[in-house]
Amino acid sequence: TLTGRTAVITGSTSGIGLGIARLLAEAGAKVMLNGFGKPEDIAAAKRHIAEVMGEEPHHSAADLSKPEEVRAMVTEAQGVLGSVDILVNNAGIQFTSPVADFPEEKWNAIIAINLSAVFHGTKAVLPGMKARGWGRIINIASAHGLVGSPEKVAYVAAKHGVVGMTKVTAIEWAQTGITCNAICPGFVRTPLAEVQVGAIAKEKGVSEDVALRDYLLAKQPSKRWVEVEEVARMALYMCGPDTGSLTGAALSLDGGWVAS
Ligand code: NAD
Repeated sequence: TLTGRTAVITGSTSGIGLGIARLLAEAGAKVMLNGFGKPEDIAAAKRHIAEVMGEEPHHSAADLSKPEEVRAMVTEAQGVLGSVDILVNNAGIQFTSPVADFPEEKWNAIIAINLSAVFHGTKAVLPGMKARGWGRIINIASAHGLVGSPEKVAYVAAKHGVVGMTKVTAIEWAQTGITCNAICPGFVRTPLAEVQVGAIAKEKGVSEDVALRDYLLAKQPSKRWVEVEEVARMALYMCGPDTGSLTGAALSLDGGWVAS
């Protein structure tokens, strides 16, 4: 149980982040949301959490591409929740293009949000975790934190960087009650990922089943989506009892992708 624990989940207005926030709240944690979205979508996300938390969570609108906003988000969370015991660095964006044409501004944005925000957030929460002698930093990396794919240079570089940062943080803080781990999912069923199936089917002139199996999940031997719930369960596990020795790991949740 996470009763008495507090958690900030970045990028939790949709997808994986919202799923993690919901499960941590269900387990008893007080959570704070962050991320972009239309006011009605953010309101819906808050209601979704309130169902299990008993009250609406606070939402921080911090833009994580800006280091000062990452730091302000942590200060905001400490004010609202009293502490940050669990930080889930989940916010992330994607852009695809061959290296030779990759736009510099897309590179900068992906590195800022997917990599640098993890550093700034981690740095900001560590003193408080140290003072309380307990902390969990969970970085949502990707199978692309461990292996590459074409046209994803910034994303793959950022996610490999996140896995590296996870190791260094874990080593430095190994004697403090603070752990730092990465989760490396393959393709996860989220609204944004699902629309790609239809797009591929149209482009290739194949059925949606074939688009999913042979194109989108070409590298995922399980030939099925990873579910948001599976990622959330692993994050919850990392916060649970008897997990003090689990640190510095990059755990795959990818249907066999990086094993093949
Ligand atoms: P998503 O687009 O549904 O959610 C991303 C979240 O990040 C949203 O809440 C969005 O508002 C927020 N966000 C984006 N830019 C932000 C910024 N500058 N500041 C603050 N918040 C910002 O995506 P998702 O699929 O749920 O992905 C979540 C994480 O999981 C990402 O780090 C992604 O790389 C990783 N991941 C996703 C998959 C997948 O197949 N969906 C696979 C592996 C890893």
